[in-house]
Amino acid sequence: MSLLDVHKLEARHGLLKAVRGIDLAIRSGERLALVGANGAGKTTLLRTLAGIHPASAGSITFDGEDLTSLPAHVRAAKGIALVPEGRKLFGSMTVAENLQVAASAGRSGHWNFETVVDAFPQLKPKLKALASALSGGQQQAVAIGRALMTNPRLLLLDEVSLGLSPAAVQGVYDSLAQVVAMKTTLVLVEQDLQRTFDFADRIVCVLEGTVVASGLTSELTRDEVMAHYFGHRS
Ligand code: ATP
Repeated sequence: MSLLDVHKLEARHGLLKAVRGIDLAIRSGERLALVGANGAGKTTLLRTLAGIHPASAGSITFDGEDLTSLPAHVRAAKGIALVPEGRKLFGSMTVAENLQVAASAGRSGHWNFETVVDAFPQLKPKLKALASALSGGQQQAVAIGRALMTNPRLLLLDEVSLGLSPAAVQGVYDSLAQVVAMKTTLVLVEQDLQRTFDFADRIVCVLEGTVVASGLTSELTRDEVMAHYFGHRS
C-alpha cells in the first residue's frame, strides 16, 4: 500500500489553478523528486500536501486516512513535515529555540534535540546564535533539523539548495544522507537535475499544474526529463 495517495488534487491562487488534477502514489521509503519549470506548481503542491495551502478539489490520503481537510498542525502530528522554500525560520529566535519549538508539533521517535544536533554538527557552535545571523547553508540545516524534530514519516523538501554555495549544498545533501538511511519517505523539489538523478528513486515531471511524465531515475534519461521540463512532450 502507498504511504501517500494523491487523487485528482487541485489547488488555486484566486482564479489561477496552480495544481490541476494531480494523481500521485508514493510508497513508504521512496524518494520522489518533482521536476518542472518555475511556476509549474511544485511549491503549491507541497504546501497543499502539508496543509498550509487548501485543496480546492481532490483528496490526500496518508497511511489510509483522508487528510484533505485537516489543518497543518494535525498533519504534522501524523508525520508530514515541510522544509519550505526560503526556509522560513524564526529569525529572532536562537537556533536551539527554532529546533525545540518544533518538538511538540510532531511525533516521538529517533529524532530529538541531541540526534538532530549530531546530524548537523555545524550547528553545535551556533545553538545560541540568532537564526537570522547564520549563513544560508547553516539556516538550511536548521530548517531541515526543525522538520526532523517532528519525526516525520513523510518529509517534503522544497528547493533546499536554492541560493547556497556549492560547499553548503554538499553539506545539506550529506546530512540528508542520514535521513535517507532512516528510510524516511521523501518528496524533493530540486533545480539541479544531476542532484535529482543522484538522490531520487523516481522523478515526476510537472508542467502547468499537471503531471506530464514520471518514471524511475534508473529508467529515465536527462534528455527526456528536460523535454518535459520545457513542455515539449515527446
Ligand atoms: P517556483 O519554482 O518558482 O517556486 P513552482 O513550480 O513551485 O515554481 P508555484 O510556486 O507553485 O510553482 O506556482 C504555481 C503558479 O501559482 C504560478 O503561476 C505562480 O505564479 C502562482 N502563484 C504561486 N503563489 C502564488 C500566490 N501566493 N498568489 C498568486 N499566485 C501564486
